[in-house]
Amino acid sequence: MPSRGKRPGRCRAMCTSKWGLLGFLVLRCRPNSGADFDALGTVIFGEELGRSGFGGVAASIADHADMALPVVVGAGTREQQRRFVPDVAAGRRILGFAVTEPGGGSDLTRMKTTAVRDGDGWLLNGQKTFITNAVSADLFITVARTDPAARGAKGFSLFVVEKGSQGISVGSNFNKTGWCSSDMSEVFFENFRVPSGNLLGEEGRGFYVLMQRLERERMSMCSQCIGMMERALEITLQYVKNRPAYGRTLWDLQSIRHEMAGYASDLAAAKLLIYHAAAKKSRGESTRLETSMMKATVPQLMKRLVDGCVQMHGASGYMRGMEIERIWRDTRPFSLGGGAAAVMLDEVAKLL
Ligand SMILES: Cc1cc2nc3c(=O)[nH]c(=O)nc-3n(C[C@H](O)[C@H](O)[C@H](O)COP(=O)(O)OP(=O)(O)OC[C@H]3O[C@@H](n4cnc5c(N)ncnc54)[C@H](O)[C@@H]3O)c2cc1C
Repeated sequence: MPSRGKRPGRCRAMCTSKWGLLGFLVLRCRPNSGADFDALGTVIFGEELGRSGFGGVAASIADHADMALPVVVGAGTREQQRRFVPDVAAGRRILGFAVTEPGGGSDLTRMKTTAVRDGDGWLLNGQKTFITNAVSADLFITVARTDPAARGAKGFSLFVVEKGSQGISVGSNFNKTGWCSSDMSEVFFENFRVPSGNLLGEEGRGFYVLMQRLERERMSMCSQCIGMMERALEITLQYVKNRPAYGRTLWDLQSIRHEMAGYASDLAAAKLLIYHAAAKKSRGESTRLETSMMKATVPQLMKRLVDGCVQMHGASGYMRGMEIERIWRDTRPFSLGGGAAAVMLDEVAKLL
């Protein structure tokens, strides 16, 4: 059982101040008024979050604002938008996205959480795990099986659930290796009553709503990777150009310059793929192929690039308190969550 995590000081400071960024998002999600991001907005926002160098801050804000909230905006009724969006967009209520279960991560059809009709509402039973923002969240978007007879992706529905009532509980904060400035835990439903007004979208169509959101989620995560790679390259360039070696600096070694040039070229190529996909998405075209390709490759590229940057810092790159060391720890989850690399390659292969 994961134990309560102790956050290092700087991460903790980032954690408590991050919701201040949310004012920015009021423009993003106010239904029928204000400006709205298109996919390019998601990309620019993701990059800037990534450039903070704090994977946890990026994850928990993007989860709240650019993954969970758009589901309420897109699939919710006008009444649900009025009820939930203003407080969430202003950061007064925090959202989590509770999908993964202990018995089924990548294979979402293995979800066991059920929602059974109970008068004018639903009774939820089940368990979610690895949920970012679980401890700080006030609301969750969650998925449950509403038709036990349905097979595969059919028979799942989406709900907005509000913490604080009887029947819903959250475990203690997981002790993660990285992403220390975001919390994560389990969410338990035990005969938890959800009013019928909290069903999001059509009954039995929850899975399809989730699938529609995946392209934007992958774009968001890969853009965060781009921002983190840019930051890693920036600090490493500065380091090697100033680190004395052999009477000159590390930068004067050709192998170091070539390695950095290779990373910068990989980064530029990855960025172009993401911008190309975002432009397509903004024109209303499908980007299933491009977003699967980027989710399969960009996090792997980031791991290689950031690991190389740690190497160029020598032993100091492996020390707690060094920015490059934190970025290195924070790269790992990007190829696990939001579609594991192997699952993404399966998706690409289906479309070839
Ligand atoms: C930091 C972090 C934050 C997260 N936040 C959230 C959150 O907010 N909400 C939420 O619902 N979930 C969240 N998750 C959970 C995440 O979505 C799951 O970890 C992910 O779906 C993978 O599921 P799993 O961990 O059960 O791995 P599994 O599905 O058991 O997969 C294990 C490994 O098996 C391999 N594999 C799986 N399928 C295939 C395949 N078809 N072909 C070949 N190999 C395969 C992959 O290498 C994979 O990494 C988070 C995870 C992490 C690490």
